[in-house]
Amino acid sequence: MTHVLTALAWPYANGPRHIGHVAGFGVPADVFARYMRMRGHDVLMVSGTDEHGTPILVQADAEGLAPAEAAAKYNRVIVEDLEALGLSYDLFTRTTTGNHYKTVQELFKTLYDNGYILEKKTPGAISPSTGRTLPDRYIEGTCPHCGFDSARGDQCDNCGRQLDPTDLIDPKSRINGEAPKFVEEDHFFLDLPAFADALNSWLDTRTGWRTNVVRFTKNLLDDLQPRPISRDLDWGVPIPLEGWIDRPDKRLYVWFDAVIGYLSATIEWARRSGDAEAWRQWWSNPEAVSYYFMGKDNIVFHSEIWPAMLLGNNGQGTAGGAPGSLGELNLPTEVVSSEFLTMEGKQFSSSRRVVIYVRDFLERYSADALRYYICAAGPENQDSDFTWAEFLRRNNDELVAGWGNLVNRSIAMAAKNFGHIPEAGELEEVDRELLETTRRAFDEVGALIGSNKVRAGIGEAMKTVAAANKYLADTAPWKLKDDPKRQGTVLHTVLQAVSDLKTILSPFLPHSSQRVHELLGGEGVFAPMPRIEEVDDLDDGGATDGPYPVLTGDYSQAPAWESVPVRAGTPLEKPTPVFAKLDPSIVDEEIERLDAP
Ligand SMILES: [Zn+2]
Repeated sequence: MTHVLTALAWPYANGPRHIGHVAGFGVPADVFARYMRMRGHDVLMVSGTDEHGTPILVQADAEGLAPAEAAAKYNRVIVEDLEALGLSYDLFTRTTTGNHYKTVQELFKTLYDNGYILEKKTPGAISPSTGRTLPDRYIEGTCPHCGFDSARGDQCDNCGRQLDPTDLIDPKSRINGEAPKFVEEDHFFLDLPAFADALNSWLDTRTGWRTNVVRFTKNLLDDLQPRPISRDLDWGVPIPLEGWIDRPDKRLYVWFDAVIGYLSATIEWARRSGDAEAWRQWWSNPEAVSYYFMGKDNIVFHSEIWPAMLLGNNGQGTAGGAPGSLGELNLPTEVVSSEFLTMEGKQFSSSRRVVIYVRDFLERYSADALRYYICAAGPENQDSDFTWAEFLRRNNDELVAGWGNLVNRSIAMAAKNFGHIPEAGELEEVDRELLETTRRAFDEVGALIGSNKVRAGIGEAMKTVAAANKYLADTAPWKLKDDPKRQGTVLHTVLQAVSDLKTILSPFLPHSSQRVHELLGGEGVFAPMPRIEEVDDLDDGGATDGPYPVLTGDYSQAPAWESVPVRAGTPLEKPTPVFAKLDPSIVDEEIERLDAP
């Protein structure tokens, strides 16, 4: 048994999330976590909403809300969506908690004491008419990279690049239109060059990473520069140094606090579990492993910056130093990055309405239908395109006609002819072959999920479904009315295959595996699900404004990853369909919805 940290990218709480987000990290990580639990590992799956930075402030302004209110609003929306998808977080929390602020400040202090945080003069914007600091988000100008004419002082919403206000062509104040004046101000920088050698040696020890991540990271390491970690901003984690902690206009940069969320969420989980030190099993134990899941736009934070911060905490950069109060912390075992999901050939974009929100999707279709599409056709190794026609085809031809049909036909036939799972008589070659195929699928599908090849994994599982459907066609038990012994043997065999397949498919399709478990006469929880709990902040000092929802769950009942013999005599009833067949008219309806003004 190994301690396995499953760390998922933190969705940004400035609006509801679309299916591209959950395709990139949510579903693939959940498949991995569920499988690792079934293999008996001690899995901890953590994340939360990323709630600082200017996009929150801009959204709050647009809605006439305080930043904390806007963050709380979308935190709740996102928590509900992730629960509906069945993502089995041990803790899904937020970056505005007092616990998170404390952890961030602790890590900052260690990095500072170890000499990895540089204080430098850098041009900051002030308003010439008032003499006051002009926060980045209130500066607008033309993006030097793409020419977009309303890029903000921190980021271009068109090309997504991070910017400094001085990068903008023709910068203007969004408050009164005047050109800002730039004056030298003190800011903090993470000394990334101090970790160049340590990062290179660490990366050389990594095996099994996707080639895109390794190549991208190697390129980054060729040109490391100190990176700003403080900002002219009034929303974020205060800088924990004398002379800074009380300044209302200086905060830590949002990315700096967000990556520390993996650690603070584990600590929060431990504190809520009643054993406040339990988090060390996943962070300080040298045998523990950690897998980080994200979209490709976030690789830099997970393969370069977060490892650098951990090395700095451990005193393992060129400046040396010693671990702080958190002790020595583990670097990522693997950074698992996916590509992008486009939709009907276009990049997802909320502003241009090229978007399908998770919530809207789940109002009309089942969670497992979406999970199936993401697993079978998601952007695992290359950008992939979501089309409604392909969704319809995969749902109807693969999920309903393949797996759903196998479950329905085999259980219906056994229920009608026997009323229970029949006894198996002597097995023939064809029976043994099918059982051998499903037993082998445990090894094959398991090895694929374990190396984060979800697409190939579900493909292998569905091949096994096809083998079981072929077995039914070949043995034709409906023609064996005059030979009840043989008919019972065939149905027993196929029900054993169905039972094995519901186990093999449960990391991908947990909701329907639970249903199949019940249709086969099973009781209790087969595929454990997350639940929402309302909790109070554990500490003062954060920015939550009252109780908030977290996603958590008891996953200790996860079944083992193995074939369990079905019991002859278990009563069966006529099944209702596990999956809904969709009418082809949904394709036009959905495309019309997208084009609606
Ligand atoms: Zn741009």
